[in-house]
Amino acid sequence: MTTQSPSTSALVLFSGGQDSATCLAWALERHARVETVGFDYGQRHRVEMQARLDVREALAARPGGERLGEDFVVDLSGYGAIAESALTAERAIEMDASGLPSTFVPGRNLVFLTVASALAYRRGHGVLVGGMCETDYSGYPDCRRATIDAMQQALSLGLDTGVTVETPLMYLDKGETWALAHRLGGDELVEIVRTTSHTCYLGERGELHDWGYGCGTCPACELRAKGWAAWRASVPA
Ligand code: ZN
Repeated sequence: MTTQSPSTSALVLFSGGQDSATCLAWALERHARVETVGFDYGQRHRVEMQARLDVREALAARPGGERLGEDFVVDLSGYGAIAESALTAERAIEMDASGLPSTFVPGRNLVFLTVASALAYRRGHGVLVGGMCETDYSGYPDCRRATIDAMQQALSLGLDTGVTVETPLMYLDKGETWALAHRLGGDELVEIVRTTSHTCYLGERGELHDWGYGCGTCPACELRAKGWAAWRASVPA
């Protein structure tokens, strides 16, 4: 572990999924003070909001957990109404004509980063941490590092203060994200991410699979299960 008395503080964009749970663990190792922000934009599944609390509670009990501060949930239901998609309405998950899955919420990360930066400004954080990743989600243009770089510059100019957006998962695939969790906190952290984080688009939490809870067939579950299998295959038994 690289815990060389960090002096920075960060606000983690935290949905309660595998990616943001791993990002939160990463930030707790790297920053002296860490707070979390979640966005309620009318997701179908309240289970995601519960997963946020469960992940936070588990990470607070680990080494470094004393650095975990307040949690904020921002109501973006107005945005959710604009950005209606399979995540926010009862529509099938399918590819649309542009080749993007119907779960794509237009400009979601632009909105989240803007709102998060205002909160970070008020709370005295110079760093935002987000789980954006261009490896598995190349169809999502607002997940790409080029977009994040442009946002970082716009926010720094618009707030007239240095804003850094850290994206530790940007170039990792889902298997490598499990490996990162293991590197950060060994089997214990992997188990926390596996059992408390929530990824499934359908909000299914009935059965605990190797890779965690979920329906096992939606695109999010398939990606998570595939990543788990790839990571397990890469680890000596
Ligand atoms: Zn699922």
